[in-house]
Amino acid sequence: MLKLRRIKGVSPPHRKHTQNSPVEVLPVPKRVEIPMLMHSGKPAIPVVKPGEYVKVGQLIGELSGTISSPVHSSVSGTVKEVRTHDRVTGQKAESIIIESDGLQIHHEDLKPHPVSTLQEFLDAVRDSGAVGLGGAGFPAAPKLAIKNLDELDYILINGAECEPYVTSDTRTMVADTEHVVDGVRLLQQFMKPRKKIVICIEDNKPNAIEAMREGFKNDDYVEVRVLPTLYPQGERKVLVYNVTGRIVPEGARLADVGCLVSNCTTITVFSRYIKRGIPLISKVITVDGPIVRNPKNVLAPIGTPIWELFEFCGGFTAEPGRILAGGPMMGIALPDLEVPVIKTTNAILADVVENKNKIRETVCIKCGRCLNVCPMSLMPPNIETAYHLKDTDEMKKLKINMCVECGSCAYICPAKRPLVQAIQLSKQILWETKK
Ligand code: SF4
Ligand code: SF4
Repeated sequence: MLKLRRIKGVSPPHRKHTQNSPVEVLPVPKRVEIPMLMHSGKPAIPVVKPGEYVKVGQLIGELSGTISSPVHSSVSGTVKEVRTHDRVTGQKAESIIIESDGLQIHHEDLKPHPVSTLQEFLDAVRDSGAVGLGGAGFPAAPKLAIKNLDELDYILINGAECEPYVTSDTRTMVADTEHVVDGVRLLQQFMKPRKKIVICIEDNKPNAIEAMREGFKNDDYVEVRVLPTLYPQGERKVLVYNVTGRIVPEGARLADVGCLVSNCTTITVFSRYIKRGIPLISKVITVDGPIVRNPKNVLAPIGTPIWELFEFCGGFTAEPGRILAGGPMMGIALPDLEVPVIKTTNAILADVVENKNKIRETVCIKCGRCLNVCPMSLMPPNIETAYHLKDTDEMKKLKINMCVECGSCAYICPAKRPLVQAIQLSKQILWETKK
């Protein structure tokens, strides 16, 4: 019997208010706080001391292992302090505080880094400070250094940007097409996927689709694939399935099914470094949310306190109760407005305090809606039960490690069950048991 392939997910309101607004440049902040841990893996190690003068693009933190990433100064000025507490992660990783002189003097090392071999390319990707800008910030160089490169079929460039409000990747594809195209060409030249490179964009981003089609016209090797707007279209495993039909099994890597996914903004980081010598020192950030007066996309130096971005957007129309880094589905709540922009910040959203009385949790009514939308075909209510029973065998059977924590189940649940929290805690229990 013919089995119909159904793409699963949810359709929260897009609220892409800023997708047609040009990127505006933030004035140079007076002070930046640049964390040494803005990626997954080991933190970078500071190589500058208080009192030292630094220039834009100068290395201030060197990588400390294979899974690590170097950190560069986003301003010219004087190092004021090397703080041991990282206010973003709460971990004991260092942050460098620099007082800017406002002159933005570029470091003399900022020159093109031409590459002609795969190793030179990977070294340049590492030195650019590129990390996965669509997710947890996994360093880009070790991600590209896949062992079975000769079995790589597809590279998917992730421009899906399925979270509501967030439009920074869209603006990158529209306004920085040159570096997206260069990044794709570098991947084509050195990674040589056997089948093709696919630029993946949801159908609610016509400007980005047009820009990419223009950038790759008359090119059979690079396809611009228009996907239905459906959250979490941009999740890596979901994207691989929706574009290639390949399923990434539990515990496997994307490369095991011949695929690699790279965010569209990430590839502009190493292409800009190779072409112009500029490492990852600034980010385009969507500043939006129900109480932001003038939502915008803003280009800001890494380390800028987020209050400066909100102020640049006209401030708030009401007292902010919740500030998120990222979109409303998977974003992280920030403790205060002093938190700096980091490499992985793609959006900051401000909202009033949630009315807790409105979110009344009731018992599961077994409606099955969460099962219908789960992109990984999991059974969230059964996982929640297993969590309450602390039944680790059942948790394993239910394949909770396949959960990508997209929140679609909790979003659709009429009983407002805290499904994602139950899954996260179950994963922690399994991890503790394994340890
Ligand atoms: S179970 Fe996990 S993957 Fe499935 S919808 Fe819920 S959060 Fe997403
Ligand atoms: S959506 Fe909510 S109420 Fe419906 S089955 Fe899932 S957990 Fe139960």
